Amino acid sequence: MGARVPAVDGWFSLGEEGPAALLGSKCAGCGTYAFPAETRYCRNPDCESAEFEVVELSRRGRIWSYTDARYQPPPPYVAADPYVPFCLVAVELAAEKLVVMGQVVDGVTVDDLRVGDEVELVIDTLYSEDDTDFLVWKWQPVVAAVRGA
Ligand SMILES: [Zn+2]
Repeated sequence: MGARVPAVDGWFSLGEEGPAALLGSKCAGCGTYAFPAETRYCRNPDCESAEFEVVELSRRGRIWSYTDARYQPPPPYVAADPYVPFCLVAVELAAEKLVVMGQVVDGVTVDDLRVGDEVELVIDTLYSEDDTDFLVWKWQPVVAAVRGA
């Protein structure tokens, strides 16, 4: 088996010591969350803090919107060649109310998705090269997982 490395560094944990999670930041001054993690300026315009703590974000959220990505999106979403269409969802995280984009797991199409559906974070292979799997987070519908069980 080859190596398993994140396709983008520092955006998520691989779950080797516990469940995988997105890594965001929490402002020390006002508690505002950000993803990807903020290092310089707080997103809250009324806050002047520049101290941020890296935190694991919610592993579940609800679909806020979704699309059939028929165009090549920017990194890190896909690097498949030739380009294979896939579903992209914007998910509102349960606790932080942050909206995070991501691919949906293989085999799930827009017909399977509805706004408001609950999804769960999984770590999956984005692409493989030279015996190395490059990993990214994806969203897996919780309902579909139950149906398939
Ligand atoms: Zn702040």
